[in-house]
Amino acid sequence: MVYVNYGAPADYEQLERMGVSVRGAIVLARYGQTWRGIKPKVAAEHGAVGCLIYSDPHEDGYLHGNVFPAGPMRPSFGAQRGSVMDMPIYPGDPQTPGIGSVPGAKKIPLSEVKTFTKIPVMPISYDDAEPLLKNLNGELVPENWRGSLPLTYHIGPGPANVHLRLHFNWDRKTLYDVVAKIPGAQHPDEWVIRGNHHDAWVNGAGDPISGASPEMEEARALGELLKKGWKPDRTIIYCFWDGEEPGLLGSTEWAETHADELTAHAVAYINSDGNGRGYFRAEGSHSLENFVNGVAKDIIDPETKMTISQRVRLVDSTRTTPEKRAELKARADLRIDALGSGSDYTVFIDHLGVASVNLGFGGEDPGGGQYHSIYDDFYWYTHFQDTDFVYGRALAQTAGTMIMRLADAQVLPFQYTNLAETVHGYVGELKKLAADERTATKEKNQQIEDGAYQALTDPRKKLVPPTKEPLPPYLNFAPLENASDELTRAAASYEKALTAAGNNASAAVNGKLIQSERLLLNPAGLPNRPWFQNLIYAPGFYTGYGVKTIPGVREAIEQKRWSEVDVQMTRVSEALTKEAALLDEAAKQLTPASTSTR
Ligand SMILES: [Zn+2]
Repeated sequence: MVYVNYGAPADYEQLERMGVSVRGAIVLARYGQTWRGIKPKVAAEHGAVGCLIYSDPHEDGYLHGNVFPAGPMRPSFGAQRGSVMDMPIYPGDPQTPGIGSVPGAKKIPLSEVKTFTKIPVMPISYDDAEPLLKNLNGELVPENWRGSLPLTYHIGPGPANVHLRLHFNWDRKTLYDVVAKIPGAQHPDEWVIRGNHHDAWVNGAGDPISGASPEMEEARALGELLKKGWKPDRTIIYCFWDGEEPGLLGSTEWAETHADELTAHAVAYINSDGNGRGYFRAEGSHSLENFVNGVAKDIIDPETKMTISQRVRLVDSTRTTPEKRAELKARADLRIDALGSGSDYTVFIDHLGVASVNLGFGGEDPGGGQYHSIYDDFYWYTHFQDTDFVYGRALAQTAGTMIMRLADAQVLPFQYTNLAETVHGYVGELKKLAADERTATKEKNQQIEDGAYQALTDPRKKLVPPTKEPLPPYLNFAPLENASDELTRAAASYEKALTAAGNNASAAVNGKLIQSERLLLNPAGLPNRPWFQNLIYAPGFYTGYGVKTIPGVREAIEQKRWSEVDVQMTRVSEALTKEAALLDEAAKQLTPASTSTR
């Protein structure tokens, strides 16, 4: 057995420098930093034959507060369950990538499935991990590899020998998505979609019921409105997903089954999952950033009685750098983060290019220690989380308001100047990433040449000095920068036309707006993972949940695949240029012919 810290790629680089190989070993990784599925994936890439993952109290145990039932943190026997499917390749039914898993669908054989882990993996509690850690010798771990157990952390290998024998069940089970539809009275072919999953690991009070019950409450409220004679202009679809936890199965398969209809009709998808107490958070498509901000300005925070938007602005200003604080004051809209993966929005935004937002409240609750374990139950939720459900109500108000506004807006509330500004920021990040990569390689090569690593070598340790690497090439960012500027210009001109049109803005423009997010897709997909077609947003190949923006370019730079960068950059530039052209057409459509040229 070898202890591999979080089991992230950087941890294996560290092991290599220490002269420790995991080839033929069972690795012990702790939860944290990466999504869990990355741990066995990277372990297998380095030749390990098995993987144990444990919850160290450093991450969500007694270091952070009292453990359950005295407090909310993970007790010694708490094991975090969860999918380890290689979802950065594709989520959903492993046997039907890209198509709906309905009766009669063509399935690939199990032996050809790319998303199964290559080695057996098992989650354990720290009570079970402690004797294993105590029986490892070898080097002391680096300081930032230490957890919070009362023992000295060693790397190994051995002398502990671990026997790992797992039983697998390969049965196929039927999943049940519940899908309810309110037909639109004016534009039945424009669909506004809302979803939360209903399946859980064990009890699931927090994940997913704290998000699922607000969604049910929204549906009930819309039902009441229907009885009173209200009819939405657009079609509203409420989805209650099954099989999210094993691999986003229910949402992915439903959306793949209805891919053509969704491509033609879907306006937006609003997702939630677990909910907590505290500050409003939203992540998603930046074409909806302004819209999300508008709704957040109208929802009252149950504790402070200020708006949820005001509260986020104030809290963020206490926790940030002077530059960000100045931006918070100057920028009209709060920024929303980009979406990675980890819940049911994935197929909508990443595969079908449907503008998506993920919502929730949190940050004030002390939770985390119950996550994906038997302790996520009603007692835990009502003692330590949103104890009187007021943030459940706030979530229903926020998401419900979004659905109603999307369904009834004359012109769909997409706003592209925030999108253009955000993309411009990503391009800047990529340029800096490439420059930093170059500088770092140059410096390291110089250190190697100067003999710095020979001086570091401790004869008692088997430190392996690094070898020189080829210098990263200069990259041509001009096409991407030009396309980004083009988008900025077109977004501003669309906004101007929309403002000028005012209440006379024609709903005819909505057909174009619905397609605007689709243009961010490339049918060829990302390198080595064609299912992921969004060129702006994707979960990282080596982060799992964590987002990589402009992923084709960013990951090619990060993983030093230099020859790929130009190809990827061209694809993104073309998509941004097409997006700009669409916005120009939309602007033209909003401008009455009589005033457009004369
Ligand atoms: Zn969930």
